[in-house]
Amino acid sequence: MSQQQEQFSPEADWNQVYVDGEWRTPEGADTIDVMNPHTQEVFAEVPACTEDTVEEAFDAAEEAQTEWASWSVEERSELLSEAQSTMMSRMSEVKELLAVEAGSSVAKQMGEFNFSRNIMDWMSDFTEFERSYDSSFEGKSNRVVREPVGVVSTVTPWNFPFYMAMRAIAPALITGNSVVLKPSTETPISGGLAIARIFEEAGLPDGVLNVVTGRGSDIGDAVVADSRADSVNFTGSTGVGRRVGRLAGDNLSEVALELGGNCPYVVTDDVDLDWAVTAGMFGTYMHQGQICVSINRHVVHTDVYDDYVEEFVGRVEELGVGDPQDASNIIGPVINESQRDEILEFIESSVEAGATLEAGGEADGLYVQPTVLSDATNEMAAACNEHFGPVAPIIEVEDDEEAIEVANDTEYGLSSAVHCQDIDRARSLADRIEAGMVHINDQPMHDEPHMPFGGVKDSGVGRFNGEWIIDEMTEAKWISEQSEQRDYLVF
Ligand code: NAP
Repeated sequence: MSQQQEQFSPEADWNQVYVDGEWRTPEGADTIDVMNPHTQEVFAEVPACTEDTVEEAFDAAEEAQTEWASWSVEERSELLSEAQSTMMSRMSEVKELLAVEAGSSVAKQMGEFNFSRNIMDWMSDFTEFERSYDSSFEGKSNRVVREPVGVVSTVTPWNFPFYMAMRAIAPALITGNSVVLKPSTETPISGGLAIARIFEEAGLPDGVLNVVTGRGSDIGDAVVADSRADSVNFTGSTGVGRRVGRLAGDNLSEVALELGGNCPYVVTDDVDLDWAVTAGMFGTYMHQGQICVSINRHVVHTDVYDDYVEEFVGRVEELGVGDPQDASNIIGPVINESQRDEILEFIESSVEAGATLEAGGEADGLYVQPTVLSDATNEMAAACNEHFGPVAPIIEVEDDEEAIEVANDTEYGLSSAVHCQDIDRARSLADRIEAGMVHINDQPMHDEPHMPFGGVKDSGVGRFNGEWIIDEMTEAKWISEQSEQRDYLVF
């Protein structure tokens, strides 16, 4: 292994944070163990920063931002492309980190890497920083210029650590902002420190990206409530998101909250069963169901219910469960013991409430067996909570009315999907589902760099991707020009 590859390996020294272009050992900081969920062994340590390091990160970000914003869009775009090339050259190391730190299967590693590459591509091609508009006044022309907000504070979760950070960093940088990133304590390397190494290698100026590791309970408030955080960009649970929103609101910071989900998957009576089950399996079991847009509930029409359950259960037996680095496995370990215990509790409570356990229901270490619950209702624990596990509660409904009622009976509204051959009926169902995203004849787990990703209800505020995230990270400045003297009594 070359020295450069070693820098990105799980065994590298990760016990420093990246602030103002330097790798620093924060004074007086404790350390946090980073565990491989497959072996349940600690493979690295990272600093548990205190608020002092967060303060230093904001000092650096504020200082660096003005100079960074003075770079032309073309220069920033070139830097982003360079970072993307560096990322591409680190693909195997990043994928290994995603397996070792986050329990990501080979398929999920690839998906996460591709999403990251795509968002970097889209953002480095973005050039529309100015638009002209007509005026209703004689002799006047209008322009709107997008200006950077300043410093973007970003807090990310552990399930898609690399991509969740990249989808915030790429738009922040192309728009001329600087960044303070706090990754999850479960995934501080693939979600933060490795990303800092990529941008450092690509030549990003000092202080433009700062990564601080530490527990949300210790430094979370400092990261989102610093008065220099002009935009707060949080991805995580709805509970923590509410607090983040309140703190950011006190500073009148821009705020984007991408929160939890409970995605319904509606299957009608005219469905192509093989297609619906194949998509349903992917949407349920990819990354052990630990995705905000995983299928949380299958809502299936009574006429196809038994066939759907039978076909689904049959396919579950074929799923490979085990070491995520083995490409034949689809299901890896869940992230930690508390997640595992909560998933098992949801299953147990649902069975006690009358669900039939068709498959799974147990765990070995952090491996939760792929589980299917038929005779489920919307009130059961595995259905009404975001279960975040490899669990498929299947709910029977009489007709489209009941399907919509069940699908919408949740506080969340992130993604959703409808399987139905009659496209008019499918569209009508899609129109009635309360969600930020609906995918017809697909499953809910979908992301494209130019399409708005986000939710309604308790799933958050704002949208990632494309011009939507550009809007979140810029201020629109209206500049008008009057070319001749006006009559001020006519307005
Ligand atoms: P979480 O517990 O809310 O943590 C998310 C991040 O917030 C972590 O970095 C965490 O740090 C930090 N944090 C904790 N307390 C904080 C505080 N007081 N102030 C600021 N930050 C604080 O969520 P998670 O368990 O990591 O992730 C799973 C959740 O994320 C699920 O609900 C999932 O649906 C959601 N999610 C949503 C999207 C989306 O796009 N809508 C995408 C992915 C995931 P520590 O790790 O140190 O506690």
